[in-house]
Amino acid sequence: RHRALHEIVARSVEQGDRTYLVTREETISFAEHARRVSSIAQALREDYGIEKGDRVAIASANNVGWIQAFWATVSIGAIAVGYNAWWSPREIEYGLEHATPKLVFADTKRLAQLAELDVDIPVLDVDADVKRLATAYPDAPLPSADVAEDDPAVILYTSGTSGRPKGAVHSQRNLASVAAFLGYTGALSAAFGDPVPPQDKVHLMAMPLFHIGSLHNIAVACLSIGSTVAIHLGAFEPGAVLKLVQDARVTNWGAVPTMANRLLNFEGINDYDTSSLAAFSLASAPSSPQFKQQLREKLPFASALVDSYGMTETCTAIAVATPMDLAESPGTLGRPNIGVEVEVRDATGAVLPVGEEGEIYTRSAYAMLGYWNNPEATAAAFTEDRWLRTGDLGSMDEQGRIRLSSRRSDLIIRGGENVYPAEVEAAISEHPDVAEVLVMGVAHSDLGQEVAAVVVGKPSANADRAVFEQELRGHTAERLAHYKVPSVWRIAEQPLPRNATGKVIRTAVSV
Ligand code: AMP
Ligand code: MG
Repeated sequence: RHRALHEIVARSVEQGDRTYLVTREETISFAEHARRVSSIAQALREDYGIEKGDRVAIASANNVGWIQAFWATVSIGAIAVGYNAWWSPREIEYGLEHATPKLVFADTKRLAQLAELDVDIPVLDVDADVKRLATAYPDAPLPSADVAEDDPAVILYTSGTSGRPKGAVHSQRNLASVAAFLGYTGALSAAFGDPVPPQDKVHLMAMPLFHIGSLHNIAVACLSIGSTVAIHLGAFEPGAVLKLVQDARVTNWGAVPTMANRLLNFEGINDYDTSSLAAFSLASAPSSPQFKQQLREKLPFASALVDSYGMTETCTAIAVATPMDLAESPGTLGRPNIGVEVEVRDATGAVLPVGEEGEIYTRSAYAMLGYWNNPEATAAAFTEDRWLRTGDLGSMDEQGRIRLSSRRSDLIIRGGENVYPAEVEAAISEHPDVAEVLVMGVAHSDLGQEVAAVVVGKPSANADRAVFEQELRGHTAERLAHYKVPSVWRIAEQPLPRNATGKVIRTAVSV
């Protein structure tokens, strides 16, 4: 049996005064963390009536309050809902309607947005109120809950192929799946001949907690195995992050390619002591063999770089490419992790032979339960025997290594954040002067891709294209998180080319 999440908190007390969380502002030990979580959990129950299965939303950038509110929530069997901290107020409104939380924790920026929305549930400050609740019940016992392994523990949103974001639900077991995590770090350790035991590991958290990588592979896993989390507060700024690496003696760092690219272009890269770093890995978005080679040569800590492939729906990584894999086959994503099956299938669902390109399917004990409140999308994501369709196109080699060929044509990954054209197109289409719109990704040196839109206006549209474009930008920014708002626009004269069934021929349109 996997431990339930409240049992992980209880066990962590044994780590005593060792550090669980460290930021540039504070250090919190395992024992202190457990005391705070116990008090917050009791406050959730007694002051806010939170019970098993209730949703508690967190709308915040990374900070210690996020992590404590999360542990208190899941330790009493309630469901933590991580909202994307870059969402626009309209997207937050959708998140509230969709997950119907009983309570929301929010940071300063989101508190202001929520105030505008006129919500009728309690909204707490993820900093000040969490601190207050953390000492409200000093004698609170360690939290516990009567939960089953398959009870939902967390909802994390992923952008949807059709319109609205979808909430991937992970169970108590998925989050507590330290075994899967150890498979992942085990692969890393083996690759590095890594002599660092879990108690001496310090994981850098520079990616948002509302993504599974930070939440599961760092926050949850470190509490489970007694490692330290060094949390970078605020936007990614190379100097500040490197200072944290130096001061907290960080041993493990996972970065999206955009962050790695910023490090590559950072002049002060050699001004910090990064000798503590034993592992540097890429994740979340594609990066070329040439780019990886540059990283190995120029970053003092990236000589044994790895690349890790996963998705929100799979909880833990699907595969990790070790330095050895990358040396033998530069574009590979490595072999499936322990406990994870991978197959490449054609459009009919038939398994394809080695070397042939098709859609990547995966199955493991740690795949999501499904999408919250969305049986259609859940049914579409899984086959009858629980194989998950990744939507990624790729192939497998003789050694069982995975390679992504071209990503599914519609998904745009901008600086590690996924953007689906359908969602952006739906928002732009709400403008009364828009007749047709097509959204696509275009290459960008730092972000990997950026979002571009081709719009055909109605006769009512402003004849001055620059003015119309400005209107469209403002309109879209009101509806969507900034990273989804197109930065490249083209107002087209001609209708978009369509095939016989009336679908826009995406490949025939460019910006
Ligand atoms: P998300 O659910 O936001 O984590 O996005 C998952 C998607 O990101 C996958 O289906 C892939 O398309 C892409 N992805 C994740 N990791 C990698 C990687 N290491 N290399 C290339 N693409 C990746
Ligand atoms: Mg991602």
